[in-house]
Amino acid sequence: MGTLFRIALYASDSTQAGQAARAAFNRVAELNHILSDYEPNSELNQLCRTAGTGQWVPVSKELWFVLKKSVAVSERTKGAFDVTVGPYVQLWRRARRQGELPTPDALAQARKAVGYQHLKLNNKNKTVQLAVPNMQLDMGAIGKGYAVDEALKILRKHGIKSALIDGGGNIVVSRPPPGTKGWAVSLGITAPTDNTRQLKLLLKHQGVATSGDLYQYLILDGVRYSHILNPFTGLGLTDQSRVTIVARNGLTADWLSTAVSVLGPTDGLALADKTPGAAASFIRQEKDQTPQWLSRRFKKLNTSLLGTE
Ligand code: ADP
Ligand code: MG
Repeated sequence: MGTLFRIALYASDSTQAGQAARAAFNRVAELNHILSDYEPNSELNQLCRTAGTGQWVPVSKELWFVLKKSVAVSERTKGAFDVTVGPYVQLWRRARRQGELPTPDALAQARKAVGYQHLKLNNKNKTVQLAVPNMQLDMGAIGKGYAVDEALKILRKHGIKSALIDGGGNIVVSRPPPGTKGWAVSLGITAPTDNTRQLKLLLKHQGVATSGDLYQYLILDGVRYSHILNPFTGLGLTDQSRVTIVARNGLTADWLSTAVSVLGPTDGLALADKTPGAAASFIRQEKDQTPQWLSRRFKKLNTSLLGTE
């Protein structure tokens, strides 16, 4: 999944801690082998090689679960989140390497292979069909959130009740550390391009994720393009924003942070309000201002702030 996973946990002794953490990391490695688009022989990439052949492909229960979720989320966001953006992601990566935007031709070519309606799921047989050639699925905006949730389940099986798992900024926490009210998680709250001022939240049994172009972006002709793409144009978002989501689990925080980024503050925060337990903060970098929008539940979260520094 192209990132680092980190686990903090409380256990009764170091043997239990070590065994639990090892098992959780193994689960992440297993999921990487299923969901990665970097690993040529991941289950995901094997599935993608059947695009356009008309085949119905049986998939693992993990891949099924994430695909099912992804399609549901795509429908809910009317395509602002779209797990089939892979061909655009490839163009974006090439643009970053070569320092130029994809040509209109390349974008038009990619467009034929993008669209979640081409991703067909057969509920009865749990088989999947990629209905048009050259489709490439991309779990970049949901896979890490799913992986941290799964890793937390493994810790629980090993008797670990209090833990924090961080998969590249996609965080999930269980019970608070002994004697505390929650896990302290710091969030960048000022300009999307600035990580120096932080806000601390106390979290328990929740997921948190941040999306933005703080680390992954491309500047061309003075325009900054995010690695979060607008599936309707195929290009990276250019409104410099940073979206933080607190949700009931890591998976929801992950996809929602990307979806809210694409939807913008008005529709995005409305979506967060409609998602059970979810809270959103949206910060945008404008010329010399950084307006911030907070969703209904995010305003309530602020009561548990530890303070700013
Ligand atoms: P990060 O990976 O930095 O945590 P996100 O969770 O926002 O950030 O995911 C961004 C990644 O998701 C991109 O690198 C790309 O692989 C994929 N992606 C980009 N735009 C979209 C989109 N509109 N819908 C679904 N996935 C996307
Ligand atoms: Mg995300």
